[in-house]
Amino acid sequence: MTELGLLGLIVPKDLGGLGENHVCAAMVVETIARYGCPSTAMVYCMHVGAVSGLLLRYHNNELIKSVLRRLDKDKLVGTESFSDPATGGHFWYPLSSKNRYTKDGRFQMLKYASWTTSAGFADFYVVQTTSPGFGGDYSDLSVFLLFKDEVRAHADDWKSLGLHGNQSGVLITEGVLSKERQVGELGEGAAINDEVVDTWFLLLTASCWNGIAFGCIDVACRHATEKDHADTGLRVCDYPTIQDYFGECIIDTNACRAFVFNVAHGMDLATNNNDWTIHSDLKVMPRTDFLHWGWQIKFAAAKNVGHVSDVMLHACGGSGYKTELGIERLLRDAKAGWVMGPSNEVTRQWVGTTALMGMEQLDYW
Ligand SMILES: Cc1cc2nc3c(=O)[nH]c(=O)nc-3n(C[C@H](O)[C@H](O)[C@H](O)COP(=O)(O)OP(=O)(O)OC[C@H]3O[C@@H](n4cnc5c(N)ncnc54)[C@H](O)[C@@H]3O)c2cc1C
Repeated sequence: MTELGLLGLIVPKDLGGLGENHVCAAMVVETIARYGCPSTAMVYCMHVGAVSGLLLRYHNNELIKSVLRRLDKDKLVGTESFSDPATGGHFWYPLSSKNRYTKDGRFQMLKYASWTTSAGFADFYVVQTTSPGFGGDYSDLSVFLLFKDEVRAHADDWKSLGLHGNQSGVLITEGVLSKERQVGELGEGAAINDEVVDTWFLLLTASCWNGIAFGCIDVACRHATEKDHADTGLRVCDYPTIQDYFGECIIDTNACRAFVFNVAHGMDLATNNNDWTIHSDLKVMPRTDFLHWGWQIKFAAAKNVGHVSDVMLHACGGSGYKTELGIERLLRDAKAGWVMGPSNEVTRQWVGTTALMGMEQLDYW
């Protein structure tokens, strides 16, 4: 991936990246999930998400700029650490984190995270905690950049149904940090979530689920066109029931892909084709308007991949149930879509509530 420059995919060219946009990033994630490995695609989603956080606020921060410049050269993989064991899928509520000013004006922080993709393996971590001196207001959040030697995680903490390569394990982060570790202003965490953390996460994970859905269709297509039954003289693909399975899954998955690429294109239009220099004005937050669409694409793609992986398993019959065909692994990977925060129960309700009563009805805290 570093040979292709993919770690710096969305990093501006003057910082050594490829300077690509939202549509391209969605296509890259979908391709890795479909033709490569879903765990790698998810690790990559969290990497690009972490990079988007840094890009939003790199303008006056030399440390962040140096990390961005080194991504591909030094093979630096990042991730986002938000989830808190006390608040489950409400990853915007870091109840267990602590942060306070030290006498010399730095911050002493402790983050206890219940899930962090690439925990212990990533080279850098974009971490959210309450702001120092937050006074009990959990919407007062700040974002920090930490490095591998500042986190504690155990590789064997991750035992899961699928996405076995993800290592989305428990993570403890602590340290005394100087101001250059701040990503953006203190107290800006909620706005950073809306502008990049959530919007990029929703866009890229939706692309990952779409890639897995087509990966299932690819595997099942190969099987159904090759396997035949001697008694009927028909291949599996000759049965109209199987043809209906494929027709519906292809139509539904392409509807999800078109939806994702449409939202990604909208974000490109709103950001001057993913031009990060627009954020030198701290008030410019164009992706925030796409949050509602982000919840919808995540819901649609995660729901679809759950269904498609089931149906494609059915199309492969007992052969699909065995590991060697590969659909069994994709089905297990696919099941992460619905439960991953914000879960489909949560996104569905946000879309419904805000459609009925307006965005101002939504109070995460
Ligand atoms: C593969 C994978 C990778 C992950 N990677 C990361 C990562 O890199 N960084 C990170 O910070 N986090 C990560 N997460 C964590 C994720 O974002 C969620 O925090 C986590 O999935 C929540 O799990 P939980 O058991 O606490 O769910 P819970 O929140 O306890 O949910 C249990 C049930 O309650 C429902 N529910 C919860 N709240 C509500 C509500 N308000 N209204 C209605 N229903 C509700 C849920 O939908 C679900 O059905 C990852 C998760 C997975 C599965």
